[in-house]
Amino acid sequence: MNCMKCEEKAIYEHNNLKLCKTHFLSYFEDKVAKTIKKFNLYEKGDKVCVAASGGKDSLAVLYMTSKYCKKHHIDFFALAIDEGIGGYRDHTLDDLRAFCETHGIQLEVASFHSSFGQTLDMIRDDAIKNHNKKPCTVCGVMRRTLLNRNAKRLGATKLATGHNLDDESQSFCMNLFKGNMRHNASLGPITGINQHANFVTRVKPLYYILEKETRLYTFLKGFKVEFTECPNIDLSFRSVIRDKLNELESQFPGTKNGIVNAFMDALPDLKEKYRGKNDYKVCERCSDPCSGKICNACKLEEQLCRA
Ligand code: SF4
Ligand SMILES: [Zn+2]
Ligand SMILES: [Zn+2]
Repeated sequence: MNCMKCEEKAIYEHNNLKLCKTHFLSYFEDKVAKTIKKFNLYEKGDKVCVAASGGKDSLAVLYMTSKYCKKHHIDFFALAIDEGIGGYRDHTLDDLRAFCETHGIQLEVASFHSSFGQTLDMIRDDAIKNHNKKPCTVCGVMRRTLLNRNAKRLGATKLATGHNLDDESQSFCMNLFKGNMRHNASLGPITGINQHANFVTRVKPLYYILEKETRLYTFLKGFKVEFTECPNIDLSFRSVIRDKLNELESQFPGTKNGIVNAFMDALPDLKEKYRGKNDYKVCERCSDPCSGKICNACKLEEQLCRA
């Protein structure tokens, strides 16, 4: 099977695409650059903070951000959150440090332990047994909070994440199955419905990239990536949805693209419907924006970290 653009052997095939190594790399990079331009994810005067973990998606988004921002003279840096997940995060952070050193990228690290006094491993069992909370729920809230707090502290105007097409189609289905369309209105290449001065705007340059494309890209570029998964992933609703969508995608190629394209079609109406309905207040403890008196991170900190 040959590449559809030249005589070389194709190494990537998806739907009607058949690409050799050279043409796959330019297909990937063009798609990311087009997403950044089309949605104005990075603009002159921005200071971009890339949420990086050392996993394949974060290295890909960090590399593409570095390429784009250097070309367009935009400030950027990487920010990692160490949740304290033994045997997993320590390895991915080692990969991230080596990557940033090789590519001359500024790296900042914040941790659950230094911010909340506990690691995720330390509070995991208590969260499951005594508070009926899955580790990913706790991790997600605390991680998002630390990313926002530290991005803001470091003067970032945009917070870029490695979310890809697989993640977005999963999130959409998860919210749909839970009957939570308001949360779906917050998805998209630029996250959120209402802007708030205390929220750093979140953007997703890999929005139209399939996970298997990121996997192949990082492999072809020779990035050192541990292809291991967090030990907590199997406990999550997301992992069930991920497996089901992967089954559907292999039976009916293009399913994930179909979900995200249909969602993008409905997104302007969804944003319109929910805009202004979520009047943010400011958390009484930490001043982060929240919908009640105390933000979710402060509630979890109270429940799990001050026992
Ligand atoms: S899989 Fe869950 S616990 Fe592990 S890093 Fe992701 S959100 Fe955190
Ligand atoms: Zn080719
Ligand atoms: Zn708070």
